Amino acid sequence: MKQLNRTLNEQNLVHSAISQIRKEYQYVESEEVPQDLLENKYYKEYEPLNKLELLTDQHIKYCTKKLLNIGYSIFYLDVGQPWCIYWPLNALSILQDDVSKYEHQIIQYLEQCKIGSFGGGPYQFEHLAPTYSSLLSLFILATPTSLGLIDRQGLEKFFWSVQDPNIKGSYLMHVNGEADMRAVYIVVIMVIILKLDPKLLDGCAEYIASCQTYEGGIGGVRYSESHGGYTFCGYAALVCMKKAHYIDQEKLLNWLVNRQIENEGGFNGRTNKVVDACYSFWQGAIFKLLMLSGYVNEQLMDVQELKKYIHICQNISGGIFDKPSKSPDAYHTCYGLSGYSLTDSNFQNPIYNVPNKCIEFVQNFFQ
Ligand SMILES: [Zn+2]
Repeated sequence: MKQLNRTLNEQNLVHSAISQIRKEYQYVESEEVPQDLLENKYYKEYEPLNKLELLTDQHIKYCTKKLLNIGYSIFYLDVGQPWCIYWPLNALSILQDDVSKYEHQIIQYLEQCKIGSFGGGPYQFEHLAPTYSSLLSLFILATPTSLGLIDRQGLEKFFWSVQDPNIKGSYLMHVNGEADMRAVYIVVIMVIILKLDPKLLDGCAEYIASCQTYEGGIGGVRYSESHGGYTFCGYAALVCMKKAHYIDQEKLLNWLVNRQIENEGGFNGRTNKVVDACYSFWQGAIFKLLMLSGYVNEQLMDVQELKKYIHICQNISGGIFDKPSKSPDAYHTCYGLSGYSLTDSNFQNPIYNVPNKCIEFVQNFFQ
């Protein structure tokens, strides 16, 4: 993503537009004005919005601060500490900051979370979610030392231990834990890139297909509601296995195009829900995946409108929030920027959500 070269005047305009919209939003929200009125008033009529741009330098500062705080300021996410590394690290790599300077510190920290797979922090038990965020962080660093930390045998053993005893092709997030589409996604994409036992993939495509709902999206488990996050997980896993055709892709596309909301330009996660910046990735990536699978041959989301929504979700001093009136956080900064990165380049891999060049490095490393 290019560095911005704005004049001071332009910068002031951007800042005052964001401040204005946040201020008015808070006021309007407290009066409980209906969502559609908000959309028309602010997203359509507020002219300075069209002049907003990505605040690259500020986001780099924000993410650097978050990343350097690992191990200190993340008590609120005690069981998911590797996420607090992945979110800012991925954002920094998207902003094309040099992340190699953090390698030593990150490896040192993740070593303490490693068992065979990874736990949510030092001395915690193995869990698929921190395993996913730890592995992605090691992929982003993309060096022999970072990838050398990956224990493929340990991972394979853990994946076998979290097979759902009741449903073939389904996985649990941890031993005796809950089963949902995140677990299937993590196991599938990691088995493929790390070249683990392909028998772990048996029944996964059939199981994912059985979770597609009448709306066209995919639910967390069978018979549950179509949801942006779970739909991403299920479809990304299918595309990774080259089995996208196992689901009704026309129905999926129909559900997906209706998730980008008119006027705001951002995505919601479910039918009749409000827009949220993190779905810029969860939903936006599915458009890229539909292209990757060959089902469509052009970008079908409204890229300019999505960018506009992400622009107004920026904090002036860096970081992205879910929607105006909220505070920025590392999660929305990561997934807002991840969605942004998918709009105009092939920099980011839509299955793994790390840069494509890192995925190539990992694939070659585990030949
Ligand atoms: Zn969100």
